[in-house]
Amino acid sequence: MDNKIYHRILIIGGGAAGLSVAAQLLRVGCKGVGIIEPSDKHYYQPAWTLVGGGIINREKSERQMAGLIPAGAAWIRDAVSEFDPAANRLKTRDGKEINYDYLIVAPGLQIDWHKIKGLPEVLGKDGVCSNYSYDTVESTWENIRNFKGGNAVFNFPLPPIKCAGAPQKIMYLAEDYFRKRKIRDKSKVVYYCATPTIFEAPKYAQALTEQVIKPRNIEVHFKHDLFEIRAASREVLVRNLDTGEIIVQPYDMLHVVPPMSAPDFVKQSPLANQAGWVDVSKETLQHVRYPNVFSIGDASSLPTSKTAAAVRAQSPVLVANLLSVLRGQQAAAHYRGYTSCPLVTGYGKLILAEFDYTLTPRETFPFDQSKERYSMYFLKRHIMPLMYWDGLLKGCQWPKLE
Ligand SMILES: Cc1cc2nc3c(=O)[nH]c(=O)nc-3n(C[C@H](O)[C@H](O)[C@H](O)COP(=O)(O)OP(=O)(O)OC[C@H]3O[C@@H](n4cnc5c(N)ncnc54)[C@H](O)[C@@H]3O)c2cc1C
Repeated sequence: MDNKIYHRILIIGGGAAGLSVAAQLLRVGCKGVGIIEPSDKHYYQPAWTLVGGGIINREKSERQMAGLIPAGAAWIRDAVSEFDPAANRLKTRDGKEINYDYLIVAPGLQIDWHKIKGLPEVLGKDGVCSNYSYDTVESTWENIRNFKGGNAVFNFPLPPIKCAGAPQKIMYLAEDYFRKRKIRDKSKVVYYCATPTIFEAPKYAQALTEQVIKPRNIEVHFKHDLFEIRAASREVLVRNLDTGEIIVQPYDMLHVVPPMSAPDFVKQSPLANQAGWVDVSKETLQHVRYPNVFSIGDASSLPTSKTAAAVRAQSPVLVANLLSVLRGQQAAAHYRGYTSCPLVTGYGKLILAEFDYTLTPRETFPFDQSKERYSMYFLKRHIMPLMYWDGLLKGCQWPKLE
């Protein structure tokens, strides 16, 4: 078997970032595009908040990868294991060597379930659930639905994580559901948040505090990091990051979000920065040491909130800059850090956060998006999935939410 393969443009990852870049490149007539992707399924992860809240079935978030790889791209069904960017070459898990002229690195991030002691053993059962994987997302709704009162505990780990709003969105849905079921008065809803504020961009942090957390009596502990689960006694251990004090918190249901990091094979490669992420210019998305390498999405070092919405703003910049480099020109298009987070605050309510690197709001609509609205919930529930499947993944430039 010939284990040596060549692609002029090689894309790592058939996720939101990889597929959208591939589709855009093919639309402008690029040839020799290959995508390395090990999974036969693609997941629309933003739907998992709604799955966990019992609003849609998890199957709605899953499609066959084969149907999404754009026509004209070669799918290499394998996983990258090692980079050799000085030689424009990489190795795969199955022992292939692949050469390229240009490389786009978009394998997403890795969820470090093991970094919370006791979590891998109990995940998805005995009151412990998480929206952060297809395999466990149904356990969230099961827990919310069957909650009879007591302590409902949620956490936000030390960042960066993907979709920094997701850990609190599911808490707001749960709290709303407990009200609807008339068990809110015998329930305590507690959020252990490793960061000092509820949300990065101040405008939305204030809105969440005033419109949601205070009036709905949600107990929030900032700079508190959940690090251990004791399933036998149904308790979690949480560290106060200022004082080091350890709190023992009993739970009746626990929605857990573990720390996340760059995939190990990226961390260990010459492409990584000190923190392990693919080391690219935050404006041009071009690698700082290897000019024929680009990265966007969750695996990249871009200092913005890691979302599919950010990918939507990043991918046309990457494509424009790659085309410039192919023509022998400088990468001149700039990404300003646009990201968005549809903060579901209850059944039928949503605050649509949109902001840039400076945390300045970059709102799409001609009204104040920091107010809870049904129209924005409708957008998340019914329109955004279409924008994802039929817009982003097909390389279409929809009117940008920017
Ligand atoms: C619960 C939850 C809620 C979210 N909510 C929102 C939201 O409301 N709005 C929003 O915009 N974003 C949301 N996100 C975040 C969004 O899903 C991600 O930011 C986005 O998918 C990132 O795209 P990506 O292509 O970088 O990574 P991914 O989409 O994760 O894709 C990475 C791909 O790389 C592949 N891969 C992995 N390892 C290798 C390897 N070794 N070789 C080759 N390929 C590899 C994977 O199989 C995968 O297909 C949410 C995420 C979660 C988990």
